[in-house]
Amino acid sequence: MAVEVETTLRGPQAYSVARAAIEMMETAKVWPTALNFELWIHLVADPDGPLAREIQRLLSSGETITDVIAEDLAATFLPKAKLNEQIRDAGDVLTKELTAVSEAIQSAKMHNAAYGATLAGATKDLSGEVKVDALKAMVGNLTSATRQVQRHNASLEKRLAESSEEVARLKEHLEQVRRDATTDGLTNLANRKAFDEELERACIEADANQGIVTLAVIDIDHFKSFNDTWGHQTGDQVLRYVASVIGRVGAPPRFAARYGGEEFAIIFAQESQRQVERTLNEIRQEVSSRMLKRRSTNEDLGAITISAGFAERRQGEAIHAVVDRADRAMYVSKRTGRNRVTNSDQMADAA
Ligand code: GH3
Ligand code: MG
Ligand code: MG
Repeated sequence: MAVEVETTLRGPQAYSVARAAIEMMETAKVWPTALNFELWIHLVADPDGPLAREIQRLLSSGETITDVIAEDLAATFLPKAKLNEQIRDAGDVLTKELTAVSEAIQSAKMHNAAYGATLAGATKDLSGEVKVDALKAMVGNLTSATRQVQRHNASLEKRLAESSEEVARLKEHLEQVRRDATTDGLTNLANRKAFDEELERACIEADANQGIVTLAVIDIDHFKSFNDTWGHQTGDQVLRYVASVIGRVGAPPRFAARYGGEEFAIIFAQESQRQVERTLNEIRQEVSSRMLKRRSTNEDLGAITISAGFAERRQGEAIHAVVDRADRAMYVSKRTGRNRVTNSDQMADAA
């Protein structure tokens, strides 16, 4: 749902959805706080969804939506807050599983110790002279003690198997949550947060091994006028198209991300400036070589171009400084005619 709302808010319905949200807040006598606006935007964009139903229920029962209730609704229904909640829930389940398993192990230990004591007692009894009846009784006791301990061990085994299944499910769920949290909904590339983390990690690694990290920034040319001409929805399709080229050419071990609205970034490790430049030109040429068509009407949209800049990190250089240089290189590409790639280290030549 998050992705759909995000898309709606950049589509042809965006402003009418926003206006409807404000009108509905006014009718419901709810303050237009940022949080309420977010809630009502979701309500308008998904009027049959669980959040909309809950708000309708509260309102029709005469409840006032106070800040506290709004926070509650956000925590339950909005994707970002829901994510935190899911992580907390997963932690709770894990804690419960671990407690149950450690209790089961504890109880099995006690039963095994009791069994050991029974066996030791029998050994002691057998050291003297033993009558047949007493022997029979002893064997009977040992048999039932053995059965009991077998039963307990079997139930421990079952409990452990259940538990490891539950933990595997949990792991998969958390993996999915993690993927959602680091992926850009529109383009499926890594999002800005994942990019920032990866860049930091790559720089730390490079510092440790005297490795090379290069950062490239890519920006779509004249995208505002493209949106103005063809609409945001078609603009979104173009973003997906450019992202798919970047994602393919910038596949691992390279790390490609959507950096902002119509900006992308790629992290290169251990590649020469020539290799990086060649790769960026490959992306640039592939993007511009395709004549785009509008899906709904088959109209020709022409070709679009991108401008790129890149900077190889200097030994120990601060992250924001590399980002800044790559950005400035990209702007040199813009100023010198767009549809080109600029190397930060050769900016004097290019400018
Ligand atoms: P330049 O060649 O100098 O980069 O010009 P530009 O028009 O691309 O640059 P500008 O920064 O003025 O405009 C960027 C536009 O990108 C503005 C906005 O409409 C569009 N944009 C940003 N994010 C999205 C998005 O998620 N979807 C769509 N369709 N458009 C977006
Ligand atoms: Mg831009
Ligand atoms: Mg642009």
